[in-house]
This record gives sequence, C-alpha cells and structure tokens, in this order.
Amino acid sequence: MKIAIIGTGYVGLVSGVCFSDFGHEVVCVDKDPAKITRLEAGEVPIFEPGLDDLMARNVAAGRLTFSGDLAEAVAGAEAVFIAVGTPTRRGDGHADLTYVMDAAGEIARAISGYTVVVTKSTVPVGTNRQVHDAVRAANPQADFDVASNPEFLREGAAIDDFMRPDRVVVGVESDRAAEVMQAIYRPLYLRDFPIMTTDLESAEMIKYAANAFLATKITFINEIAQLCERTGADVKMVARGMGLDGRIGSKFLHAGPGYGGSCFPKDTSALARIGQDFATPMQIVETVIKVNDGVRRRMVDKIVDLCGGSVNGRRIAVLGVTFKPNTDDMREAPSLTVVPALVGQGARVSVVDPQGRHEGEALLPGVTWEEDPYAAADGADVLVLLTEWNEFRALDLTRIADSMATPAMADLRNIYTPESAREAGFTAYASVGRTSYGIG
Ligand code: NAD
Repeated sequence: MKIAIIGTGYVGLVSGVCFSDFGHEVVCVDKDPAKITRLEAGEVPIFEPGLDDLMARNVAAGRLTFSGDLAEAVAGAEAVFIAVGTPTRRGDGHADLTYVMDAAGEIARAISGYTVVVTKSTVPVGTNRQVHDAVRAANPQADFDVASNPEFLREGAAIDDFMRPDRVVVGVESDRAAEVMQAIYRPLYLRDFPIMTTDLESAEMIKYAANAFLATKITFINEIAQLCERTGADVKMVARGMGLDGRIGSKFLHAGPGYGGSCFPKDTSALARIGQDFATPMQIVETVIKVNDGVRRRMVDKIVDLCGGSVNGRRIAVLGVTFKPNTDDMREAPSLTVVPALVGQGARVSVVDPQGRHEGEALLPGVTWEEDPYAAADGADVLVLLTEWNEFRALDLTRIADSMATPAMADLRNIYTPESAREAGFTAYASVGRTSYGIG
C-alpha cells in the first residue's frame, strides 16, 4: 500500500514508521519545514524509545520518506492519514478542529484515484462526516471514502503499543474503505490482534470514552488517596487490594499528582463539551476535571507544608518535569502547575529531567537546570519527586539527605516509603495517600 501521513508529531511519526515497517510505502508530511529537514537528516524530533532505530531501518529499506509537499504525497497515496493536533480550543474547551479541517481541504485538492481519507487524530463525534463534506465540497469529482481510525498508543511505549495493540478500531461506511484499512493492518490481523470495524460515530466515541474512563480511574484513586491521608490507610495497599479484583484491574490505579499530558486533559474537556452540545451533560467527566485540578493544586500545598507554611526563599529541587517518564512531552504536565506556583511564591527552584529540558526551558522560566539529581538536591530544603523516571527510582537517599540543607521529601509518585526516607536521614516526608512525618 502507498500511504501518506499528514502530521509528524508523536502519533503521525510513530504511525508512519510502523506502517513502513509493516512493508507499506509511506510518506510522512509536515507543514513545519524544520521538522522535515531534521527527519530527512535522520534525526527524530521527539524522544520516543526505539523510534530512531526503527525509522533508520525503514528509511534505509526505501519504504519511508519525509516531505513538506502534501499535494505530491497525497496524489501518490491509496490512503491518507490525518494525524495533526486537536488541542483544546481557547475559551470554550472544545477540540480545536482547525488543523484537521485545513488538512482535509489540502488533501481534497490533491486526491487522484480512489483514496481513503483516514482521521487518526482524536476528534469529536461527527468530525469524520465534516471531513467527508469538506473534501466533497473542495473536490466534487474526487473518488474517496473517509475512515475513522483513532489511535491508542501511549507516549514512551508507542512502538510496542502500535505493533502489539489491544485493539485497532476502524470506523468505515463502505466495503471498499474497509478493504483498504484491512490491507493496511493485515500484519496485525495475521497475528490475531483484534481489529474492530464500526460505524464512524462509534469509532470517534470509543476514543473519547476510553480516555475519559482512564482519566476517571486515575482521579478516583487520587481522591481515595486524600481520604487515606486523613484516615491512616495506605493508598498503595488499597490500590493493590482493589486491582487484584479482575473486574477492576491494577492499571491506572497509581495515586499521584493528577493526570496531565497531551491527551487526558484535552479529551476530557472536549467530551464534556460534546455532552453539553447534545444536551447530555457528562456529569462524571465534568467532576473528574474539577477533582483533578484540585489534586494538582494540593501538590503545591504539600510542598509548602514541608517548608513550614512558606516556600519563600527556600531551595527546592524538582526531579522530573515531563508529564510522564520516557517522553520529552511537557503538554499539561503537573510540573507546569507545581513549579510556577513555587517560583511565584518566592522559592528558588532547581530542576532535573532526563529529556524535559529542551521543551521545559521556555515553559518553566526562573528555574535553574541541573544535569543530575544529586547536583539539584545539593543544599536544597525540599526534594520533590514529580516524574517517576527510572533514574529517580534508585537514588542514594542517604547521600541526598546528607547534602541537603533541610532533608525533606515530597514524593509525589510514591516511589519511596516513609520508612526508607526516615532511615536515609530525611527529617520530613510527604507522599500521596500515605502517612507523612515531620510536617508542621
Ligand atoms: P503533535 O502536536 O505532536 O503533532 C502534530 C503535527 O501535525 C505537528 O508536527 C504539526 O506541524 C503537524 N501539522 C498540523 N497541521 C498540518 C498540516 N495541515 N499539514 C501537515 N502537517 C500538519 O500531535 P500528536 O501528539 O501527535 O497528536 C495528534 C493527534 O493524535 C491528536 O488528535 C491527539 O489527540 C491524538 N493522539 C495523541 C496521542 C499522544 O500520545 N500524543 C495518543 C493518541 C492519540
């Protein structure tokens, strides 16, 4: 199959590389010339484990190319995937479909021969029909179908998720489009990964419902964590006891500083707006959004409490600023709430992150960047664990406590235990949903 991918971000680039690895001939298109220049030079513009090797292999095999010329890429393709961003629209919380509709218009003018226009971006119910109408309006002669193919990959594990998905969802309206989509995903079909064919609306809804459910699960355990702190229960034990129930499952039950990232905040917001538009308020999702905002703000309070009520003039070392480990993505990261609040209240903040500096420097003004956690913690009053990168999971806590001005830790990912912190010499320790000590 000849495939064009429009948008080479976290989803477009991973999809393009993986489709080429399936054996298809893929052109990845982006309107950002700097990205295309880097890709053509063999550089991967994002951090995603394993992506550089897989990309190099498929470029070398002649199956994968990059281009800024959308029209040329589309003209030669049997399927065109729209993988552009759908951020929250300023002001009203809806998904901003500008990029999707712009891409649809450009694709329409370039279509030649039968083409399936596939939306991989996360889009509100009804968008694929809008894409269909926009293509038809711009090019009445075009021979095409639309398909909805929402993406479920997780940043940090994107290649494995794409190559070994729990399921692939394909919304189509014609057998012809279904056949093209089946041909594209045949390598997965042959290995028995479930490929689910639906109508357009159900495919669009599955993506929002799945993300909203996961955001709800995280928020549920975060709210239980607050109650654990008041009652003396340990949320890690509670989550384990819940998760061993096969009906519940243990994933997404880790209490922490609130969900963030490129998807959950915008997708919960968009789903709430879709509900309002259809006079069917999504009350659970609306509450989840509110509770999550509160959870994030509470993390600042924990750090302030560790400092005895004020962070003014205090030195705080923050370990991890990306929204989760194994990505350089900073979108809606908890650090964007926590760090500016600390800086705003007069704290002197040093920050370390294995991949976050490139994006983070512009987003977190007024902080000092360090290269390793020990340098960041040296002379600090509080150590804050904000993203659970592997390199922060086995720190020499005694060395860190010894080097700090006042050894206190806000373990916002529950990586360590109160006992291990105490043994290492920390005089105060707070985590999420477990007993703290040395505060107040
Ligand atoms: P991104 O912002 O990383 O990348 C989007 C890219 O599209 C950018 O490089 C931009 O320059 C390019 N672009 C925009 N308009 C274009 C046009 N007209 N022509 C060519 N290029 C264009 O976005 P992302 O994180 O990859 O997300 C893309 C979509 O996939 C979103 O709808 C998102 O919700 C969804 N999604 C994302 C993830 C994730 O983990 N990031 C997971 C599942 C689904």
